[in-house]
Amino acid sequence: MADTVLIAGASRGLGLGLACEWLSRGWSVVGTVRGGAHTALHDAAGTSGGRLTIEQLDITDPASIAALRGRMAGRSLGVLFVNAGVASGGEDRVDHMETAEFSRIMETNALGPLRVIEALGPLVRPGGAIAAMSSSLGSVSLNESGGMEAYRASKAALNTLLRSYAVRHARDGHTLALVHPGWVRTDMGGPGASLLVVDSVRGIVDALATRMGQPGLQYFDYQGKTLPW
Ligand code: NAP
Repeated sequence: MADTVLIAGASRGLGLGLACEWLSRGWSVVGTVRGGAHTALHDAAGTSGGRLTIEQLDITDPASIAALRGRMAGRSLGVLFVNAGVASGGEDRVDHMETAEFSRIMETNALGPLRVIEALGPLVRPGGAIAAMSSSLGSVSLNESGGMEAYRASKAALNTLLRSYAVRHARDGHTLALVHPGWVRTDMGGPGASLLVVDSVRGIVDALATRMGQPGLQYFDYQGKTLPW
């Protein structure tokens, strides 16, 4: 039977691209969307021969996470991939930022992904993988240029929280991954980004496939290159 990947945040951009990439490799895909609106993921589901199903999830809402956990009861996942994330809507300097905006970025990019991983991680089969979409901007040691301050902090927090999760769940034997997709042409990455979604997601799925079965946490980019913390 084909393996299943659950992608949290698959309505557009990299999450949608990951869903299409795994479908093209014969996997079954559960993709989540936030609201009730029709998305490009619904179009992809229509041509997937039933291999792509869509679930509702807002990663900032614990009740929404618990409801998805209930609907997924009894399912087995080869990969759980938390892709959802946000960037600041304005100038990303903490000295100019409202507390609510800082909290929104941290909650969506760090706390929400870990809550999803805590809730759905037990569905991942032995030898399977749990991944979160991080960024090279989450590397503390690579931060020599500054900028995107709250976004950087949120991805650094995500990295640190997944390291703590890895310690608590060392006996699970899952492959744990923090992934940098490159600078990608999406709504978030913008039209000037250097990479197309198709090229980034192909590299990500390849890089994850080579690590499946290796327990413990790794931080790497879409080319499979390990990043420094
Ligand atoms: P995007 O085009 O803006 O898409 C963001 C995705 O996250 C959408 O599916 C969005 O759903 C979902 N999302 C946001 N908040 C959510 C919430 N509270 N609950 C559930 N889903 C939520 O961004 P992208 O470029 O594809 O980025 C995907 C991931 O890659 C993010 O984690 C981002 O930080 C990371 N990343 C991107 C780049 C880049 O160059 N693009 C570089 C490094 C890292 P809606 O459609 O409902 O808003």
